[in-house]
Amino acid sequence: MAYTLVIHGGAGKITPAMMNTELEQQYHIALSLALAAGQEVLKNGGSAMDAVVAAIVELENEPLFNAGRGAVFTKKGLNEMDAAVMDGSNLMAGAVAGVRNIRNPIKLAREIMLHSGHVFLSGNGAAEFALNRGVEFAPDEYFFNKQRYDQWVEIRDSDFYQLDHKDDNLKGAEPNPDHKFGTVGAVAMDEQGNLAAGTSTGGMTNKRFGRIGDSPVIGAGTYANNNTCAISCTGHGEYFLRAVVAHDVSCLMEYKGLSLQEACNTVIKDKLVKMGGEGGLIAVDAKGNYDMCFNSAGMYRGMRNSEGKENIAWYES
Ligand code: ASP
Repeated sequence: MAYTLVIHGGAGKITPAMMNTELEQQYHIALSLALAAGQEVLKNGGSAMDAVVAAIVELENEPLFNAGRGAVFTKKGLNEMDAAVMDGSNLMAGAVAGVRNIRNPIKLAREIMLHSGHVFLSGNGAAEFALNRGVEFAPDEYFFNKQRYDQWVEIRDSDFYQLDHKDDNLKGAEPNPDHKFGTVGAVAMDEQGNLAAGTSTGGMTNKRFGRIGDSPVIGAGTYANNNTCAISCTGHGEYFLRAVVAHDVSCLMEYKGLSLQEACNTVIKDKLVKMGGEGGLIAVDAKGNYDMCFNSAGMYRGMRNSEGKENIAWYES
């Protein structure tokens, strides 16, 4: 029986000028390890959901990415994380927003799906639930990352308010300092033909206290439905929220009969571009077709399937 796993480590201005051989190697290893963790689950007949969580845990533990350990700093100099999972076989979902000191927010999202009686918990309530469920916490030092910190220090005090932003809804929004997003995500189809999606992020550098992006919002940054596809997004969350990107792709397949690739292209390369939204997504459908689609300069991404196919890349191909 067939399986497919696709992962991403964020989209954005990823160009040869900002890379070197050593860094490329680090990204390659990190993406390979995450693919291996998810594949281990899938090749042993495990569920798409377990594979998605296993792959994302690896990416959250890797400081190269803006999730878990590598989460960026907020305006207050803190790390506030968002994550979500969705199971396409039963449309169950779990999401968490604005949590601090949770070692693997993706595991908390799955706990919320399975044991909270709710879909979405935030802040202190999510932390209390995590404590009750024995979810692992980590101290502030665990999340401290010199490079992220320096990126944040560079912009935290400058007057970055763009009061003349061309998009009224983003008046007062801050630009993304390096146009790199770094969120992580995974989508999978397992041997039973079930789909699952997950996304985890530290959000946007210097984000306001309490800001929540698209990643944990079911239908915006994360969505899975066996009838259509599983999607995990990365990019400027404010646009992805308003374009309801992940569910939009699913709807184009369900109601308009578009193929996975046509639906992804329509939303990422047409609708989002017209709105001015930068980013991308990974997607898989119930036949194991997959797509890794972005309108930014690059997206860290990788895939493996049961036919032995592997593809790891970050620039446009
Ligand atoms: N979409 C995420 C957010 O806006 C950022 C990212 O993809 O890196 O929070």
